[in-house]
Amino acid sequence: SAASPTPSTGESHHSDAHGASESAVHVQDLHKCYGDLEVLRGIDLDVAPGEVVCLIGPSGSGKSTLLRCLNLLETPQRGTISVGGYTVTDPELDVDAMRRRVGMVFQQFNLFPHLSVLENCTVAQVKVLKRPAAEAKRVALANLERVGLNEKASQRPAQLSGGQQQRVAIARALSMDPELMLFDEPTSALDPETVGDVLAIMRGLAADGMTMLVVTHEMSFARDVADRVVFMDGGVVVEQGPARDVIGAPQHHRTRAFLSRVL
Ligand code: ADP
Ligand code: MG
Repeated sequence: SAASPTPSTGESHHSDAHGASESAVHVQDLHKCYGDLEVLRGIDLDVAPGEVVCLIGPSGSGKSTLLRCLNLLETPQRGTISVGGYTVTDPELDVDAMRRRVGMVFQQFNLFPHLSVLENCTVAQVKVLKRPAAEAKRVALANLERVGLNEKASQRPAQLSGGQQQRVAIARALSMDPELMLFDEPTSALDPETVGDVLAIMRGLAADGMTMLVVTHEMSFARDVADRVVFMDGGVVVEQGPARDVIGAPQHHRTRAFLSRVL
């Protein structure tokens, strides 16, 4: 579609009709089904600007589906979502404009295998943001430096370790200047010795004030970095609060059962 490079006045920041302008993410009564299977069963969730929220819960509880609904990789059946002032569930939404605000990092990196590390970080800047090639390169190299990989700029993803590839995926997302970063188990596919490097990058991002929603099983990361931990099970938010409460002193038996398996 012929998306304009900047949002129109009607959908700019802090103009959300639902009064969610203080939230970076606002989710209300979200329902998602795959056929007869109701995977999200009425999710309410808010993320404030600059907040780091860790989403935890058993496999199959709907964490990935929730993240994918936020940037319309999945279409929910019911509920409202707004992200960065865009009402995602509005049929009139400029999907491309909304997605430009949201960076996503997947478990499996999803780098372009035939492109160099540098090209992975420039291609969307040029195609989507219409940045001149020289500027895109400068932004990409700055972000590769931020993740400690500017010396790998000319290599192909396959020449890097999993942890390095994931750091490139983070640099690629950051090169789009997102105001929100979604992470879906970013360290679950990594060799144990490379997990720490990726978590360190994420800690740095959090310290720099990035708004982050992170699905993770890394409880020490959640405990140290998250402003809030949200525990999901069976498509609902069972319990949420500061990490010291949810992880340190869970109130719900389902949270306790889950933590006893992962801690
Ligand atoms: P989590 O990320 O918490 O492990 P998911 O959101 O991936 O959970 O999955 C929640 C449920 O939805 C699971 O039962 C899964 O099998 C199902 N599911 C996920 N994606 C699809 C899909 N595209 N089609 C059908 N079922 C799906
Ligand atoms: Mg998942």
